Amino acid sequence: MARSDQKAPILRFLGATGTVTGSRFLLTTPRARVLIDCGLFQGLKPLRLRNWSEFPIDPSSVDAVVLTHAHLDHCGYLPALARNGFRGPVWSTAGTQALARIVLPDSAHIQEEDAAYANRRGTSKHVPALPLYTTADAERVLERFRVASFFHALEVAPGVRATFLPAGHILGSAMVLLEVDGPRRRRVLVSGDLGRPAHPILTPPADPPDADLVLVESTYGDRTHEDAAALARFEETLVRTAARGGTTVIPSFAVDRTEVLLLHLGRLVREGRVPNLPVYVDSPMALAALGVYRKAITEGGIEIRADFGGDGDPFDPGRLIEARTVEDSMAINDAREPSIIVSASGMASGGRVLHHLAHRLPDERNAVLLVGYQAEGTRGRALADGAREIKMHGRYVGVRAEVASVPAFSVHADRGEILAWLRRAPRAPETVFVVHGEPAAATALHDAIEADLGWTAAVPRYLEIVRVD
Ligand SMILES: [Zn+2]
Repeated sequence: MARSDQKAPILRFLGATGTVTGSRFLLTTPRARVLIDCGLFQGLKPLRLRNWSEFPIDPSSVDAVVLTHAHLDHCGYLPALARNGFRGPVWSTAGTQALARIVLPDSAHIQEEDAAYANRRGTSKHVPALPLYTTADAERVLERFRVASFFHALEVAPGVRATFLPAGHILGSAMVLLEVDGPRRRRVLVSGDLGRPAHPILTPPADPPDADLVLVESTYGDRTHEDAAALARFEETLVRTAARGGTTVIPSFAVDRTEVLLLHLGRLVREGRVPNLPVYVDSPMALAALGVYRKAITEGGIEIRADFGGDGDPFDPGRLIEARTVEDSMAINDAREPSIIVSASGMASGGRVLHHLAHRLPDERNAVLLVGYQAEGTRGRALADGAREIKMHGRYVGVRAEVASVPAFSVHADRGEILAWLRRAPRAPETVFVVHGEPAAATALHDAIEADLGWTAAVPRYLEIVRVD
């Protein structure tokens, strides 16, 4: 598609500015428009409302989407983009495609349920409340997915080549190098979400290739993961809760976090440090993702650590119970024995974990372990901040259970790991754009890049445009 109005390539930040959600970066050249990630905004209401407002550009003018990974804040807006006119391919790795097949229909289902619920209860200002998109919208955009192999440059739109490199964050996750033709060939590297060198299943993130401009995530740009301390508190909380006859609820991101959590639980059980309790995984999406991981591990491939594996199911800590149906899920409420319930969503913004929280929070024997990042405005963040009651499905529930914020099992690089990754670049980029972080984290990483690396960095604003030529 010709873009006669655009003389030189530009990059526009359509999301993940001042927030860890809504990743959307638009590369426009005289010949093409490529959208890198197409995520949902989550968390604070002003952010979530952006999902409902008109997309900043005409979706039909986008030639291709390049997707870094299958988390909703990176891919969750795709069904709406396609419904509103996008007709191009969505390029991603095979792992991302497999996970998107789970994540996008699930997201659509939640949107439909929320709308139906609002209509039954009259809790929406809009009558009737409509879902942001439907399961059919999700299925339609999945037909647009095309597989990109790691390390192979491919032309995703006229004059724009993309190379996917392993990012070690979740299965299939990639950083993407975009090469833009023009009077000067320009190279833009988008980190996507950067994983950690010590991921138990995935190989570490690839080193950054040579690039003129770099977009780097900053979720933990102001923090250092205290792994040992967090894992110790995780273990102590499980032991203490079981000893008083309670059950531990762990809201968990369905994809990857659940896998890493189960691996660690298995190790603690085998070492006799945590009792061998029933471990319920109550999330159809988490169970489907477990299947994708099991298959990927069996098949091997460059993403999977060569030394990973062994006999049996690596994800069974000992007494794994997979709750597939709604009946399975409700039956967990009747379990008398202390147990561990792993359920999505990770920030308690929706999903089956809500009914477990509603059931378990009022009892002081129980515990809630918050193991992941809790964005502003979510119930998880409210619990982490010590809320004495939280609202779910229109009702307030008192919080008497122990709440432990144990930021373990993070699949995001911390400040030191991000800086170490940047430092491995063959040369200093002209500018590093610090994205995908709340303001304090983005600013801290920006300052560190300038102070420690001596590079030029910027924290872009929402909808800001920068030149790529
Ligand atoms: Zn992610």
